[in-house]
Amino acid sequence: MKKICIITTGGTIAMKEDRAAGGLVPAVSGADLAASARGITDWADIAVKEFSNIPSEFMTPERMMDLARAIDGMAEEADGFVVTHGTDTMEETAFLLETVLHTEKPVVLTGAMRGASDLSADGPANLLDAVKTAVSPGAAGKGVLVVMGGRVHAARYVEKMHATLPEAFRSPQWGPAGTVYADRVVWAGAPERKARLHPARLASHVWLVKCAAGTEADIFHAAIAAGADGLVVEGFGCGNVPRGADAGIRDAIAAGLAVVLVSRTAAGSVAREYAYDGGAGSLEDAGAVLGGSLSGQKARLLLMAALGAGCSREEMRTLFRD
Ligand code: ASP
Repeated sequence: MKKICIITTGGTIAMKEDRAAGGLVPAVSGADLAASARGITDWADIAVKEFSNIPSEFMTPERMMDLARAIDGMAEEADGFVVTHGTDTMEETAFLLETVLHTEKPVVLTGAMRGASDLSADGPANLLDAVKTAVSPGAAGKGVLVVMGGRVHAARYVEKMHATLPEAFRSPQWGPAGTVYADRVVWAGAPERKARLHPARLASHVWLVKCAAGTEADIFHAAIAAGADGLVVEGFGCGNVPRGADAGIRDAIAAGLAVVLVSRTAAGSVAREYAYDGGAGSLEDAGAVLGGSLSGQKARLLLMAALGAGCSREEMRTLFRD
């Protein structure tokens, strides 16, 4: 039987209602969490490691790096890892782990949209599904995965797309990587993998700016004035921005900031479709890096890692291209 280490970080999966406080609060230990997933020991020898018990709103890129180091440090102690995590930033932690981990052993993140004391709590079934996924032979080589609501998602593609429902997690770009059944995981295909980066540290000062109709240059000037290392811009459609933003982005590039352009749409890739200023092509010619189909929040983490690893603009272009 394979050995799986469950690493608990917190999130709603480890919360219960506190009536006096008026809502969910962290309350469930790692051991109790593992015990809640009935039948889990039929699938694997389970070890539990408590990393933290925080809502994932309080996860930071630095904590994510600490988690990556903890997993790599335990890599020889288990055949795979299941990380329980809050759902709010799960896709970001999954993506940063996918970017920086050394180990190629299965790492599967899961959580819950409903607390442990709620009617129809989804945490125990998600945890069981995550363990089934981590021991599945098909998990090999697929990188970091997220298992929620019976679906397996690749870290690169998964997004939380609903605020409260258990089926909140989707991969709008390419669909899920697999489905969990009672007896096994059925895999849909191998997600695309990128080369990993191993920065000693992340560049910490990377801004994420979302464009709206009429966005002006002022916010980009604020990033320059604040001494940002880099900037991720969520443009419209295939990577187009308003005139004022175009001017601000050019100023940021001229000031030495690394600029990555992504799309604010939920799916699809940035592309050189339009010839005028404000289009992705003209911004790429001006020095921006096109961010492929990554969401803004994932592109920001990748830019933090790429800057931390000292990547050149051309290396970043390879890293970000779909
Ligand atoms: N706010 C919670 C968290 O991310 C949401 C959840 O876990 O579902 O920690």
